Amino acid sequence: MQETNAKWSWMQEELDRLERDHLTRKLVPAILQPQGWMERGGRRLLNLASNDYLGFASEGSSIGMHAEFGENMRSGAGASRLIVGNDPIYEQFEQELAAFKGTESALIFSSGYMANAGVIPALVGRHDMVYSDRLNHASIVDGILLSRAKHVRFRHRDLDQLEHQLLKAPKGCRKLLITDALFSMDGTMAPLQELVFLKDKYGAILMVDEAHSGGIYGEAGQGLVHAMHLQDQVEIQMGTFSKAYGGYGAYIAGDAVLTTYLVNRARTLIYNTALPPMVLHAVRTNWIRAQQESWRREQLVHRAHKFRTDLQAAGFHTGDSESHIIPLIIGDNARAVAFSQALQDVGIASVAIRPPTVPEGSARLRFTVMAAHREKDLCWAVEQITAAGKQMELI
Ligand code: PMP
Repeated sequence: MQETNAKWSWMQEELDRLERDHLTRKLVPAILQPQGWMERGGRRLLNLASNDYLGFASEGSSIGMHAEFGENMRSGAGASRLIVGNDPIYEQFEQELAAFKGTESALIFSSGYMANAGVIPALVGRHDMVYSDRLNHASIVDGILLSRAKHVRFRHRDLDQLEHQLLKAPKGCRKLLITDALFSMDGTMAPLQELVFLKDKYGAILMVDEAHSGGIYGEAGQGLVHAMHLQDQVEIQMGTFSKAYGGYGAYIAGDAVLTTYLVNRARTLIYNTALPPMVLHAVRTNWIRAQQESWRREQLVHRAHKFRTDLQAAGFHTGDSESHIIPLIIGDNARAVAFSQALQDVGIASVAIRPPTVPEGSARLRFTVMAAHREKDLCWAVEQITAAGKQMELI
């Protein structure tokens, strides 16, 4: 036993260091409940921490309500899509997604992480350049690392710096420009119009990750690219089923030649077992409902606006958020953790987001509003957050 411990002492030392720096992460059992509540550690908490923006995951009704799925409830795909895993639901849903996004084609991946980790290395290699907003999601960063392309990061939404970097690109290399549409830890939106202009000017390919904006913006929830009428100009649109659609999985929408190429070159599609058909049936149901039930999108935008302006009126610094993702920037890791704990004590679940997820010195609480939240619960939450913030001298 002691030998085993000695063998892992380097791990223990690293864990001790994380604990000292208030950076430890812990898995805590939690069950999502309707109306934006959850049960965690035997307590009922208002859930201001999930990405279940339209409330589908918390309702838990996607599968149970649809008896006709019966025989389609296959728990696994059996293999990668290229081996035996291409259940008919894949092609049907891909055609529907392409029509929804206004593209020639769509291709489903087993998660957003897998899509980014597979698509980027399929498009660029060691002699190419990738231009990436500094606040892009970790799965984009990992995709770039896997590609071995030169990783050029520009300051968040800094178009002057980006243009400067594009100007210096070596002749003849392929250039990929990549951005989150809605930034996951700041709630800010990418300057898509300007990025389209720059990628055209410098001959780059533009990839937009709509993980947090899909299902919410655009007339039927197609995302920010669509809302800004840029779908014909953005070469690669990535969307997920893991957030607004309350499930799991992701897709790429673009030209038919792109998706055919990805079937042949994206290693996370070729070598990863396909998404279970039952998951795909469930998310497709949510996707259809999300389009029909426009009140979810409208309510989310309305509730988020009120919650954000109420927090600002109370004196909190919510960064540049313009969406349902609302950070309360605190700075210090220990204070962010203590604030999150204080809120948990009064019945609110929120996450303390610390480095390396966000830049050093910008630890924060990240609140996410859901369409399912009741207005009175959010008002109560603002009162509690304000009282806790005063107690901790944050405001
Ligand atoms: N892109 C962004 C911007 C994300 O925030 C996330 C998830 N947090 C992902 C991709 C990965 O998606 P998934 O959770 O479906 O793997």
